[in-house]
Amino acid sequence: MAAAGAVITGVFWMPSSTPADVSHHAGLAGDVTLPPWGFGAHEMGSRAAVNRLPAVMPEFFRDARHQLAWLNPEPDRWRDRNANEMDQAWTYDHYADLENVPTGAMDAPDRFIFLRLLYEAGVARPERDAGFVYYRILELHERLTTSWRAWRAAEPNDEQRVWLEQRIVQDAGLLGHYVMDASQPHHTTIHFNGWDAETPNPEDYTTDRDFHSRFERFFVDAHIDEVTVHQATRAIPNTIIELDALRRAVRAHIDASHARVAELYRLDRDVGFAPDAPAHPDAVAFTVERIASGSSMLATLWWSAWVASGV
Ligand SMILES: [Zn+2]
Repeated sequence: MAAAGAVITGVFWMPSSTPADVSHHAGLAGDVTLPPWGFGAHEMGSRAAVNRLPAVMPEFFRDARHQLAWLNPEPDRWRDRNANEMDQAWTYDHYADLENVPTGAMDAPDRFIFLRLLYEAGVARPERDAGFVYYRILELHERLTTSWRAWRAAEPNDEQRVWLEQRIVQDAGLLGHYVMDASQPHHTTIHFNGWDAETPNPEDYTTDRDFHSRFERFFVDAHIDEVTVHQATRAIPNTIIELDALRRAVRAHIDASHARVAELYRLDRDVGFAPDAPAHPDAVAFTVERIASGSSMLATLWWSAWVASGV
């Protein structure tokens, strides 16, 4: 199970100016004052996703690339224990601890039925032990599709069309955050910041409670080049309109990230993710692939919401 009270840098692809200790699963440690935010992999991933959009995507959206990148870390700005109601409402939307998810629970049609299944399965702390990133992605995708549909229906010179464009960019930016989070393997596992102390560790993986931030923040800022990330993104393979297909694609995105948890720990043990030493090519390749995977999925979901709104 996720360690109670464990503290990590719970922000994926967080810029280097952000506080080191932000809780992922439990209460925060120490006072956190929110500094200004830089870029880092969240913004990198967003810009790479815009680059992958087909030219027929409405121009205002592609022109919003800087705003979309700025919005990508936005949900992390809501993680503030001094604003308890806000913090608690959304803090569990950033991850999926798949080891804690009972078989079949993610077939639940919405987050509330999912939560009920966690209770029925006897999960120790249902609100926090499993995580809701899967549902958060689906919810925002549907909201985005809904706004696109209204935008298509509005008259070209209707001022509501401009308001809808603001709505669309806002929701698309937020969606981007969670899609990028899910591409970081630490966000899909109970081993979210060093190997879980209650789990056998025959491979002698690190139990350091700084692994999360060392990988996603310091290593990325020191060694990952944005051009390389752009080149590693995949072309949008097809449009996903059917809800079942969309669900499968989002699940596959999370599962693919989870499948690389052991590799992440193995690389850390064998070649390291050190920000202040030359980077091993395998560590760079792993990280670039993960960020690019988030970008590719994000481009696919943005594009699919637009297409779905027209059918
Ligand atoms: Zn996050």
